[in-house]
Amino acid sequence: MHRRSLTSKLSLAGLAAVAVAGFSSVALAHPGHAGGLTDGLVHPFTGLDHVLAMVAVGLWASQLGRRAMWLLPAVFPVVMAAGAVMGAYGVALPWVELGIVASVVVLGIAVALGLQVSLVVSATLVGVFALFHGHAHGNEFPAADSPLLHGIGFIAATVTLHAIGIAAGLLTQRPLVMRTAGGAIAAVGLLLLVMPS
Ligand SMILES: [Zn+2]
Repeated sequence: MHRRSLTSKLSLAGLAAVAVAGFSSVALAHPGHAGGLTDGLVHPFTGLDHVLAMVAVGLWASQLGRRAMWLLPAVFPVVMAAGAVMGAYGVALPWVELGIVASVVVLGIAVALGLQVSLVVSATLVGVFALFHGHAHGNEFPAADSPLLHGIGFIAATVTLHAIGIAAGLLTQRPLVMRTAGGAIAAVGLLLLVMPS
């Protein structure tokens, strides 16, 4: 009993630390100069919107089962890359920042509820959200020092965040902790929604 409350307190403390780190750096800033591999690797970890959505994809995948654990972490980066290419070629996508914030809120709620949907539905939802995460960065690529390395770094960081979410979900296996973590992610997403960007 004590252990359970300690675990959930620790997970809350961890999320709070991530939140503080994210808010104190760049929460929603997407324009700007992009370099090469390092910039690509660093950005998903420093953007709170990306960190929370990408970890939530992993957490949710761990709740959905083995096939989702392989499919969702593959769908997200692939569609994200497609979204970045769309952005690079100037293909318009409405409500990009809103879509990114919505991904944090919806995925957080899915984790909190342990929402069970079919593989097609979860992959489609995750894919739509990934399109926004990629498109937000599309305009960086033509100007990047090395667009390819920048993209590779970005995708490697994304897959790492998915893996962290899956590992955390599998290690936890406590509905209370998952509800708390998902609820905290959704709450921070709502904060991002009302924060001026
Ligand atoms: Zn970003």
